[in-house]
Amino acid sequence: MAFGYVNTRTIECLKMSTPLVFKFGGASVKDAESVRNVAKIIRLFPHRPMVVIVSAMGKMTNAFEEVVGHWSTNDLALAREKIGTIRQFHFAIIEELFDDPKDLLAEIQELIDQVQYGLEQTFLSYSEGYDYIVHHGELIATKIIAAYIGKETPTVWQDTRLLVHTDDQFRRATVRWEETARAIKSRIDQSKVNVVQGFIGASSSGKPTTLGREGSDYTGAVFAYCLDADSLTIWKDVSGMLNGDPKIFQNTTKIDRLPFNEAIELAFYGASIIHPKTIQPLKKKGIPLHIKSFINPTAEGTTIGDVDRAIPEVPNFILKKNQALLQLKTKDLAFIAEHHLSAIYQLFADQGVVVNLMRNTATKAVFCINHDLIIVPKVRRELTGLFDLELVPKVELLTIRNYQKEDELRETKGLNILLEQRTPEVVQFVFKRFE
Ligand code: ASP
Ligand code: MG
Repeated sequence: MAFGYVNTRTIECLKMSTPLVFKFGGASVKDAESVRNVAKIIRLFPHRPMVVIVSAMGKMTNAFEEVVGHWSTNDLALAREKIGTIRQFHFAIIEELFDDPKDLLAEIQELIDQVQYGLEQTFLSYSEGYDYIVHHGELIATKIIAAYIGKETPTVWQDTRLLVHTDDQFRRATVRWEETARAIKSRIDQSKVNVVQGFIGASSSGKPTTLGREGSDYTGAVFAYCLDADSLTIWKDVSGMLNGDPKIFQNTTKIDRLPFNEAIELAFYGASIIHPKTIQPLKKKGIPLHIKSFINPTAEGTTIGDVDRAIPEVPNFILKKNQALLQLKTKDLAFIAEHHLSAIYQLFADQGVVVNLMRNTATKAVFCINHDLIIVPKVRRELTGLFDLELVPKVELLTIRNYQKEDELRETKGLNILLEQRTPEVVQFVFKRFE
């Protein structure tokens, strides 16, 4: 398969009007200047139909989460204060972008009023209230961006709540694919740029839901899948997918092409560049995912797709911070057997403990888990009666895929390694930093 925008497959699809699907995250719409930049990128692609998935502006989802926090503890004055800040943030951007912003300001004010109204719904469960309040970040962002793009390009604002149908598991809703595909296919306007909200959907009774934090990459995959798109492009503030987080590792390299399976593996080990659920629907239909820089939109970026191997083939480095090492020992020194492990994993699954590495010996089972400050103490209490238990907090997990000896030596130098596990492809170290 050929990659990039101008190839024979793309040209064929242009004839068939296969939509171009773009996703812009919070960092790409964080202020007036970046909204102008998004419009500029869209103008580079006069292709229709186009679907543009947008998430909340800048750090607005965190701000809405603060509102939820105050609402849930009934601190409504604090909640209103935060809503005031959110309103101000968006109003300032609108005033910078539009000469005559009156109508748009009124529209956004209506959405802000809806958030205020949400504060009175004290009978809602935490998760339902969360989705109701938080999803306004995406509604507001897309109203602004659609209006701005619409100044020069035929654009339609679409309500994702009518397009992405989900179950009613608030905060982590699951997409109902058949209804979603039907709605998306019938409602997308073939002649325009369709601006839609990422991250959100609605239950069958029409209540707003969300797909989990950072879920708008996944929304991009949902649209690309349902529309049989030629590709999905996620626009980021980095030049593509690197083989490690440049804030943590030195001498990182951009990966030009990556097989779907490797992308899934990297997401599994904790590479945070794409939401882990994003790849599966794309892989099913062989739809390539381009990760490109919104700062340098004509540069090549990374393509994840149906290729045999990564180009270039380089080791990948992934660091997970905020881990804990939980060691369980049988009280009577009996062997750790299947029934012990099954009970432990059942408890982990019920409580939502994320296990990133596990190893057992004759009488011990050791787990490297995400150190969630609410869940872990709970699980610890439940296990104390059954096992002798030791918990080492403040550890980190380093994973190197396709490792060479020198990578391993360089990255582990000076670390206090507590546990090591290796296969021919992957080596992992649980370690503590010397303080
Ligand atoms: N705005 C949502 C979040 O910050 C979804 C996303 O950005 O993908 O989690
Ligand atoms: Mg976001």
